[in-house]
Amino acid sequence: MADHAKLSASSSHKWLNCTPSVRLEESFENKTSTFAEEGTAAHALSEHKLRKFLKIKTKKPISKYDSQELEFYTDAYVDYVSELISESKTRSSDSLALVEQRLDYSQYAEDGFGTGDLVIVSDGILDVIDLKYGKGVRVSAEHNTQMMLYALGALELFNLLYDIETVRMTICQPRLDSISTFELSVDELMKWAETELKPRAALAFRGEGDFISGEHCRFCRAKSQCRERANSNLELAKLDFRLPELLTDDETAKVLAQANELKSWAKDVWEFAEKEALAGRKKWPGYKLIEGVGRRKYTDEAKVAEQVLATGDFNEAQIYTKNLLGITAMTQLLGKKQFKELLGGLCIAPPGKPSLVVESDKHQEWNPLDAARSDFADAI
Ligand code: SF4
Repeated sequence: MADHAKLSASSSHKWLNCTPSVRLEESFENKTSTFAEEGTAAHALSEHKLRKFLKIKTKKPISKYDSQELEFYTDAYVDYVSELISESKTRSSDSLALVEQRLDYSQYAEDGFGTGDLVIVSDGILDVIDLKYGKGVRVSAEHNTQMMLYALGALELFNLLYDIETVRMTICQPRLDSISTFELSVDELMKWAETELKPRAALAFRGEGDFISGEHCRFCRAKSQCRERANSNLELAKLDFRLPELLTDDETAKVLAQANELKSWAKDVWEFAEKEALAGRKKWPGYKLIEGVGRRKYTDEAKVAEQVLATGDFNEAQIYTKNLLGITAMTQLLGKKQFKELLGGLCIAPPGKPSLVVESDKHQEWNPLDAARSDFADAI
């Protein structure tokens, strides 16, 4: 069986909103990011620490992300959840804590399963806990469908063995100092599973239903090329703006409501177009690539210092803080004219990352194929 479910819990917000997205995404590569790798390292270390706390045999994992910061935040997570484990023992002596537990919710979403970071089961309360190591966006547990799917998987395992009334879903984001908890009765969760989840999951699995765009598109692999997302963003341009010439408050509010999504869509399309052009796969009409300009730097710091001190107008205390003043600060000290005369020959701007610009841009076009040929020639 694949180690990743098609109807994965982590992407459920997307496929529940836009059911055909799962199939559409199949033709796009699923890339992992540095942030995802760092998250995996945090999960592995937390798992080890929790196993230690539970007196289960374990071996400390090693990763390139090992750092004081990783230790600190995984400790904070483990401190918090170990209190929940201890608290569950006061409810029922046979309470159970399971780390990195496979949770199967395929009864509601075909082939659906995931891994719960921590599940604590006791009479009365079932805790499902998720560690999120990211610090970009604060994630709320409230009606969070990933957590609700995990809770369904955990209920599947324990509902017959324990007298569970409430599921308590918690997302811990130690780097944001955030703990978000949401509770549902088992009845409420089951009702959602039967009336909302099951029919939407069936459509998603078959790749049916309507494309619906929204903020969930951010996590879709088709986001840069999806027609529905483009159409709904371009709707803004079609708003029926009438006289008077100035927008009414209502019209301004309509623009505001779509502005964030519009911005993020435009950025995704631009990044896609630039990547394709850089790889030499596309030449977009009306656009070209130009070579970027890197940050200017000194070619020889000792000579720079020597030249400036030789003017007699400045002393060492002025041009060194800890290191020699950077180019911006040095320009301020000397003034643009003197900087250019004195140090112009001691600065270079190495080539930066090429970028996509409109064809009328005055800079010379950069051709990725020529660059690749010249790199090859240099190498032989
Ligand atoms: S980009 Fe949005 S609308 Fe398009 S398939 Fe993905 S989730 Fe659906």
